[in-house]
Amino acid sequence: EAAASRPSHVAFVSEQTGKDAQWQLSLHAALDHAIAHDQIYLEYQPQRDLATWEIIGAEALVRWRHPERGEISPAEFIPQVEKAGRLLPLTAHILRSAARAIGSHPAPDRRIAVNISASLISKPDFVEFVCSSVADGGAPFSAITLEITETTRIPDVAAAATNLSKLRERGFAVSLDDFGTGEANLSLLVDLPCDELKIDRSFVRLAQDNDRARMIIAAVAQTASHSNLRLVAEGIETTAELEILRSLGCSIGQGYLLGRPKEFGAMQEQFASGKSLYRN
Ligand code: C2E
Ligand code: MG
Ligand code: MG
Ligand code: MG
Repeated sequence: EAAASRPSHVAFVSEQTGKDAQWQLSLHAALDHAIAHDQIYLEYQPQRDLATWEIIGAEALVRWRHPERGEISPAEFIPQVEKAGRLLPLTAHILRSAARAIGSHPAPDRRIAVNISASLISKPDFVEFVCSSVADGGAPFSAITLEITETTRIPDVAAAATNLSKLRERGFAVSLDDFGTGEANLSLLVDLPCDELKIDRSFVRLAQDNDRARMIIAAVAQTASHSNLRLVAEGIETTAELEILRSLGCSIGQGYLLGRPKEFGAMQEQFASGKSLYRN
């Protein structure tokens, strides 16, 4: 690459050993550059009906393919982007990209789930932010599920609840991610309006050998069914896990056994065919 075409954050990218401070300092410029050059993109992991195996939705997972650092995991860079105060523009880009993917390949009754950090959802302009990002991408609001991830505590739960119910009125679905871990606890389920719960993969893993984990999953499945919530088990890797989750009353699954995250085109045809996810 010619020196003249190098972006201004070259000092950061040359520091392979990953000094956190340096990464932070130039993250702002690096992120803008990466978005502009398609180094930040989405992969989609299918969600299947555990009875019929049909693809009934997908979760969008952000990827950063850095020219010098290689693939950086979202678990690593999302918290840093958050600390650097750049989560809103990144999330806008992610919402637009997901909306563009499903908007250009409409699949009635199927949704793309987009991860939204809990720190954003109580902001006063969150509703307009989400609506305009998705409209920019060209998808109907009813094509998107907002998957609330637990990285941080929600700053203002009452404001978050108001925002989420406005978004549901406009057609979005709301899912509580990583249910059973970290900040994603029972009180959130009481306080936040939602359409779906995702059982964290740590529970899926435990279900095999642990009686209490199984009882908790069964209780959550009952609660979900009584409250008209969809229940998704994430991180299913083995047929044994699949069978246990099924027997405990979980009807939707996601995980390497059901499909790895991949580019939208690789899943699009199956995604567009078959029966509806939303039967209620
Ligand atoms: P998550 O939302 O719970 O996403 C599921 C993670 O589990 C993904 O990792 C996925 O690739 C991985 N996974 C799926 N199936 C299996 C399986 O069978 N076994 C195992 N061991 N792992 C499986 P990924 O893509 O590295 O994402 C990690 C986390 O980063 C996500 O957890 C989410 O909290 C966050 N994240 C990802 N994309 C976004 C995004 O666009 N925005 C925000 N705010 N956070 C994101
Ligand atoms: Mg998620
Ligand atoms: Mg999850
Ligand atoms: Mg998780």
